[in-house]
Amino acid sequence: MNDKDKPLLSVRNLTIHYITDNGVVKAVNDISFDLAKGETMGLVGETGAGKTTTALGIMNLIPNPPGKIINGEILVDGKNILEFNKYQTRKYRGNVASMIFQDPMTALNPILTVGEQIAEVSRYHNKLSKAESYVKAAEMLELVGIPSERINEYPHQFSGGMKQRVVIAIALACNPQLLLADEPTTALDVTIQAQVLALMGDLIKKYGTSMVLITHDLGVVTEICDRVAIMYAGQIVETGDLEAVYEHTKHPYTKGLFGSLPRISDKTSRLNPIDGLMPDPTNLPNGCPFHPRCPDKMPECESRVPANTEIEPGHFVRCLLYE
Ligand code: SF4
Repeated sequence: MNDKDKPLLSVRNLTIHYITDNGVVKAVNDISFDLAKGETMGLVGETGAGKTTTALGIMNLIPNPPGKIINGEILVDGKNILEFNKYQTRKYRGNVASMIFQDPMTALNPILTVGEQIAEVSRYHNKLSKAESYVKAAEMLELVGIPSERINEYPHQFSGGMKQRVVIAIALACNPQLLLADEPTTALDVTIQAQVLALMGDLIKKYGTSMVLITHDLGVVTEICDRVAIMYAGQIVETGDLEAVYEHTKHPYTKGLFGSLPRISDKTSRLNPIDGLMPDPTNLPNGCPFHPRCPDKMPECESRVPANTEIEPGHFVRCLLYE
């Protein structure tokens, strides 16, 4: 592999737990994946699957205590960010990796103008003067489709979609190589969702940014992603390019997700959900964590943890059926 083909992000055997008074929350359990330069990967799963903890881990933002990285490496451009000191971590956040948080209503500071919130990022990370940082903030506002004359307005003067555009402008202000977008469109209505997704797609293409897009919406993934990873109970159970996972679906959980989507051609009046609930992360079942809900369960599934198996080039599945 030459330098050009090396992944920008390489997560290896990452395990993150939260040690609480009510037990150990096993949020992320031995996940591994690579992300190439300029590539977009969708990280899909139900609430509580470990998606946000994975993203916080990649930003080196796991609160300790109660969070603890139990095992693994997060290599960005070949450097393990978990070994960074405070100074290196500060340089890494914003300049190399940036995060768009889920809810724009709470991500913005209500008592600062949007211009100040965008400007302070480049003042802090790129050492621009106050005047220069405001010029940059005006450029960023225009880039996300907001007239720069609104630079001195406050978050409450913007609609939900506009606020999310401001959050995107903040995340991209230092032109990061890696963007982690945590359900960036979940709080928005459907038409605004489409606009914000199109905007993000254009911007990451323009700047060659790599992105991990966290979502529970398989439709959103097809709009913008090159690859997809399906998470369940803190594990990535299936990953591959869109064609592999959508057309040659293998893992019973992924099949269940696709099977539960409503289709316009279906004449049934009821949806087809996956039976049961996601297990309590403080008390995960032995063996394969999906076994209590799996329609294809075999006796050994209750005792043996499936390995991550490559079943075709770049298509990995964690299921004993494919070992
Ligand atoms: Fe189902 Fe067994 Fe595969 Fe788990 S390992 S998904 S329980 S068949």
